[in-house]
Amino acid sequence: MAKNIEHIDEIFQLLKKELEKLSRPVVSRSKWNEIVNTPFTTLISCILSLRTKDEVTDQASIRLLKEYDTPKKITNLPEKQIESLIYPVGFYKTKAKRIKDISKTLIENYNGKVPDDFDELLKLKGVGRKTANIVMVYGHKKQGFLPIDTHCHKIPNRLGWINTKTPEQTEEELKKILPKKYWDDFNHLFVKFGQTICVPISPFCSMCPIKKYCKQVSVTKSR
Ligand code: SF4
Repeated sequence: MAKNIEHIDEIFQLLKKELEKLSRPVVSRSKWNEIVNTPFTTLISCILSLRTKDEVTDQASIRLLKEYDTPKKITNLPEKQIESLIYPVGFYKTKAKRIKDISKTLIENYNGKVPDDFDELLKLKGVGRKTANIVMVYGHKKQGFLPIDTHCHKIPNRLGWINTKTPEQTEEELKKILPKKYWDDFNHLFVKFGQTICVPISPFCSMCPIKKYCKQVSVTKSR
């Protein structure tokens, strides 16, 4: 039988309170929210975000998607133009090709729509579990999905909730022990926490609101 996470209610309360104070100082965020609000724009922005800083992703998403926000519009764009609109996201040439290929597939096989089925999303080239989960939660507004990025994988391991090696294992294990009522908040809360306090290298444990609940597993250096 899976164990429960001790003090989970306090932990979520403390994180929410602290992170409200630490909203990311990103001017592009409100513009991004206006533009990235459909399953298709969520999918494309998520592809742009892989191995790219949030600020760079936000700006590139806005440049591309403010005009080209449907598979049809993207398919009509020359690949070079997609490249220049999304530059300097990481692997921008590969991503430009991928975005165009996915748009074509959506038109040919899905009637121009992003499927609201997790397994169908995984069939799209370059879409892994993280992206599929994000599209289900933020694009289709569906419940019961747990997107796991690097922060969502690392922090529960540091806390001592789980002992996993990959984001896939983390998703599986967390689904057993994290109460469902927290699934919707988990991703954005832990991403924000990982960007501000429990950062990947040398976390700010001295200012961490949940330090007393953390086993600091594998934390060798902290501030
Ligand atoms: S105490 Fe340190 S390692 Fe643990 S959650 Fe807080 S910042 Fe992360």
